Amino acid sequence: KPRLFLVLGDQLHPDPHPLLIQALPGDFVLMAEVPEESTHVWSHKARTALFFSAMRHFAAHQQSVGCAMDYWRIGTHDCTSLAAVVHKFVAQHPDISALYLLEPGDQRVLAAMQTCAQTLGLPLNITPDPHFLCSLDDFNHWAARSDKAGRDSLRMEFFYRWMRQRTGILMEAGQPIGDQWNFDAENRNGFGAGGPPPVPQAKRFAPDALTQEACADVSRYFPDHPGSLASFGWPVTPQEALEALDDFITQRLPEFGRWQDAMWQGEAFLWHSLISAALNLKLLDPRGVIARAETALASDKAPLAAVEGFIRQILGWREFVRGVYWRYASQWPSLNFLSAQRPLPGWYWTGKTQAACLKEAISQTLAHGYAHHIQRLMVTGNFALLAGVNPRQVADWYLAVYVDAVDWVEEPNTLGMALFALGPRMTSKPYIASGAYIKRMSNACKQCVYKPDIRTGPQACPYTTLYWYFLMQHADLLRKNPRMALAYKNLDRMADVERTAISEWAEVRLQNLEAL
Ligand code: FAD
Repeated sequence: KPRLFLVLGDQLHPDPHPLLIQALPGDFVLMAEVPEESTHVWSHKARTALFFSAMRHFAAHQQSVGCAMDYWRIGTHDCTSLAAVVHKFVAQHPDISALYLLEPGDQRVLAAMQTCAQTLGLPLNITPDPHFLCSLDDFNHWAARSDKAGRDSLRMEFFYRWMRQRTGILMEAGQPIGDQWNFDAENRNGFGAGGPPPVPQAKRFAPDALTQEACADVSRYFPDHPGSLASFGWPVTPQEALEALDDFITQRLPEFGRWQDAMWQGEAFLWHSLISAALNLKLLDPRGVIARAETALASDKAPLAAVEGFIRQILGWREFVRGVYWRYASQWPSLNFLSAQRPLPGWYWTGKTQAACLKEAISQTLAHGYAHHIQRLMVTGNFALLAGVNPRQVADWYLAVYVDAVDWVEEPNTLGMALFALGPRMTSKPYIASGAYIKRMSNACKQCVYKPDIRTGPQACPYTTLYWYFLMQHADLLRKNPRMALAYKNLDRMADVERTAISEWAEVRLQNLEAL
């Protein structure tokens, strides 16, 4: 009896495809575009267009190599969800005997498929995704070991060292190459008053016919969704993804480490790799990405600090957040360690704020579906944390607006890392900073009506006011944390009258967030 193999939109692995190699002649292979995946959060047009285009290219390739795939484009069927698609397909083919899936990256989709198979009375077969270097079982063994050692919290740095040891990546005779596990301290430069050296133009990909059709469908079916398609240039096939990777390795990797945290108005991409979406769609294999960076190091094309900094993101952070996501799977929807309740300001969807750094990060997000890590963490994330915005609303925004957003990577980054909504289970302290940090790392403050060194009054930088207020508000939870000691020492040095003035002005600011 035939089986149904359902390929999800972020499972576009190059051949041999880990799910499709199991399909036999006579089995059904199905892919579908459904509105729910773009509407359960109000997705950026470029995010949906990227998924549709990459999925259509994948299907066209599979069909060209002899796979009899059914592909349901948006607008050609009346199903709103993946579950509805499976129900309809099985009704059309009642002899289907089982549902086969590659492990989804979103617990919502996994739950929907489990319910769907159960309702239809079909066995559900789930293949683990070989894309990742660390299986979920291995991650959980590592996490359990960390817990036993008395650390009731998971730290990326220890995970990363363990991954280096077990894979041998950037290792020599059991020791880290360069005798140092990380070169993070060399990765925190700002550009200074002179600004960045000439920024290499990142390779972008002109939309081909399939991508143009995908964009037209998005404009037609999701006309009121946020974001623009005008500058769409993301890789949509494994081939293009490799070209994007090569472009990064040769043009930007050597300086990646040095400028990893820096920001500059008008420069959206700087020395970043721009491969997150291609990785998350599985167009790229992380092992291949790491190998290319190692080769650049071995052939003296890039320094160790840059190569290590880049590999840490892929082998460390990316694998770590995936493990954390599944470990706390059921908790993400409701996490709120700091009990933050304010609504997300409307300008997160328009960029219409006078705060220059926020305006820049949000405007470029709407233009490209992209912002780099420090913009996400220390500009939009830091602000939401300091302003006490409800974590669920913030996480839904991140899931909506980035082309690389998929639940397993977005939720731990937003809730665990940026908003401290997991408490100290994933990071040792909240990532908070005042306007002084933004001033050091960017030129935004020069163009801003708000001044980073002013704490109160209309000209005060909201980050600065809210930073001190945050420390006061959460002193019960944070004061004893050794990593917060310096911050509290500085707060304690302030005169009472200054602290009172900050609290009063912070309340004014928080009640008028929409007018920022
Ligand atoms: P680069 O700066 O060039 O980094 C190289 C690669 O390392 C990235 O492509 C990515 O695959 C990986 N990487 C780096 N940092 C992380 C991280 N913290 N977690 C996982 N992988 C990482 N990344 C996503 O892929 N999808 C998301 O939905 C997402 N949401 C985020 C939300 C917040 C609040 C924050 C703070 C970070 C988020 N990140 C997310 C992580 C990171 O910001 C992006 O991966 C990165 O900005 C993508 O740009 P790039 O490809 O140019 O990355």
